[in-house]
Amino acid sequence: MPEKIRVVVNEDRCYLCGGCAGVCPTLAINVSASRWEFFQEKCISCRICISACPVGALSGEPLGVGE
Ligand code: SF4
Ligand code: SF4
Repeated sequence: MPEKIRVVVNEDRCYLCGGCAGVCPTLAINVSASRWEFFQEKCISCRICISACPVGALSGEPLGVGE
């Protein structure tokens, strides 16, 4: 089983293009004109969003047991 992660954004790099939200298979990311949001309960830790970001603004933090 892949390690469970929390996806975090580097707001200094993110330019709110919406690319990560567009590739997420479970709609765990929402990008609006003013902010980037992540919904942990929907995330399946596939890391597709992290690979897709054109500026490397996303990273995954390991989640502890029970988180
Ligand atoms: S790791 Fe996968 S499921 Fe989680 S936010 Fe990224 S694309 Fe969506
Ligand atoms: S793909 Fe990268 S730059 Fe675009 S909204 Fe997502 S985190 Fe921000």
